[in-house]
Amino acid sequence: MSWNELAHFLMRRTIGSVSDPVNAPFRRILENVRQAFPQPVSDRKHDAYVAFTVLRALDELDRRKSNLPTLGLPEPVNHGNATDARIAADPLPLEDVTAQLAEFLDGMFLWGHPRSQVNVVPPASVASVIAVLLAAIYNPNLVSEESSLRVASSEVETAAMVADLVGFDPERAAGFFTFGGTGATLYGVKLGLEKALPGSREHGITEKAVLVSSGQSHYARLSVAGWLGLGEENAIQVRTRLDNAIDLEALESCLRKLLEEGRRIACIIATAGTTDAFGIDNVGAIVEMRDRLAEEYRLDYRPHVHADAVIGWAWSVFKDYDFERNELGFRPRTVRALAKACHDLKGLDRADSIGVDFHKTGFCPYISTLFLTRDAGDLVLLTRGREKMPYLYQTGEYHPGLWTLETSRSAAGPLAAWANLKLLGKNGLRALLGHLVEMAEVLREELEGRAPTTVLNGNNVGTVTLFRVYPDGIDTFTVKERERNDPAYRDKLCEHNDYNRKIFELVHADAMAGHGVLISMTDCYRHSTYGEPINALKSYILSPFADEENVRALVDNVIAARPRVF
Ligand SMILES: *Cc1c(COP(=O)(O)O)cnc(C)c1O
Repeated sequence: MSWNELAHFLMRRTIGSVSDPVNAPFRRILENVRQAFPQPVSDRKHDAYVAFTVLRALDELDRRKSNLPTLGLPEPVNHGNATDARIAADPLPLEDVTAQLAEFLDGMFLWGHPRSQVNVVPPASVASVIAVLLAAIYNPNLVSEESSLRVASSEVETAAMVADLVGFDPERAAGFFTFGGTGATLYGVKLGLEKALPGSREHGITEKAVLVSSGQSHYARLSVAGWLGLGEENAIQVRTRLDNAIDLEALESCLRKLLEEGRRIACIIATAGTTDAFGIDNVGAIVEMRDRLAEEYRLDYRPHVHADAVIGWAWSVFKDYDFERNELGFRPRTVRALAKACHDLKGLDRADSIGVDFHKTGFCPYISTLFLTRDAGDLVLLTRGREKMPYLYQTGEYHPGLWTLETSRSAAGPLAAWANLKLLGKNGLRALLGHLVEMAEVLREELEGRAPTTVLNGNNVGTVTLFRVYPDGIDTFTVKERERNDPAYRDKLCEHNDYNRKIFELVHADAMAGHGVLISMTDCYRHSTYGEPINALKSYILSPFADEENVRALVDNVIAARPRVF
């Protein structure tokens, strides 16, 4: 029997057997399921039901809050029978689903807790959460104006606000949201690739091209090099100075060597705020170097400079802050740190493109990343022909889908970012960042003041502190230098790595049991000159609720853990 014959056969049978289509069993199910959707026509009672259901879900989680930095008592994660999961035959009531959803958050970290200093994960503001909720309910699609209408303006407005903040001309710049800082780097390198090897988008990569960044740049460079077809081994790393910023002399000799070998440079990635240590590359100097070398080597393109400022961008709110008058009344140490960060970020406006994560230092939920180009004209390099997508873009003017990698694109990111920029304004962000930096300064002071602890990124001016702890008898004034440079000290370095890992495990266990501060650790803050990784304990303060008492408590906990190491 062919499909056609089967269809006809079934049709005849079905028509004969259904006597009452109105009362068919599926109707009852459909009626119930309809209640689980927001109503298309205003229905106050139903609205109340939806709002109340949201509240119940929130309440489930609120009940788990205590003075622990986690939701409920964290238990060892056990994915146990996860692979036994199957879809059931029948629907569940909405309330049952939300209650079960809440269970997934059992033991979850509370990033906003005053005793949470884990990583560069911020708590999200209420405004940004509501923005995400609205995007979820009304579900605009930023692929084009046809499916997003006015919502598209939130993206354009946010891009303009940030462009102005970082020093781009908002009229000339263009920006759109993408899937994380990794996505922003991908766009930057993609633009650069198209400049270095014109036509590669259409015809493929015909020549080897490289991307260059510091040894402390984010590993997203590897994803980007791999996924764009450059090859991970063509993501070249340049050494950093002790302040974790790229060594400009090393960069210049690296670029010269590449150019002399006739290699094409798809992109130079400058990191403005490294993830682990808040090292800030000198973007202005890198752009000057690029221009100088492009002249000297008579390049027929200008290597693209992308600033990975996903963390550092937020400090731009201090660009026009009067540090002398210090109207907001930060402490002198904080003022110095903020002013230094501002100074180091000065050349950000010279970059060709910038990545900005609102889900890091912008207090938004994941994912909210803006990719910004200084010159909107660059987007032509990415734009596919309209004729290849005849079913879209029939109406309206704003059609990011012509150049974005994504097709469907959520409005949650831009709406959340927009909401926070409005909610906080410059002074709100200044107060938040200033407070976080102030807390980090207190921590650094405290760590430097105790004999067994030492700060590794001591001259850093951000909110992240890398530090190490030592057993009795180690002189913390000289040990760092020996660990870094003395090959004869290799065994001791490894021993101390081990020691710090044990301290971390003890402090972590204490925090998870409710007596301490949650921090994290990095296995390699940097390599010693003889190639051994140096690990570090890491405090990343991003909670607006962080306070001095808890910052000092961290140091006490770390020191109290020492006698328990064996
Ligand atoms: C976090 C981070 C990234 C990656 O960004 P995602 O948003 O996680 O994709 C890239 N660069 C730096 C410096 C980062 O800190």
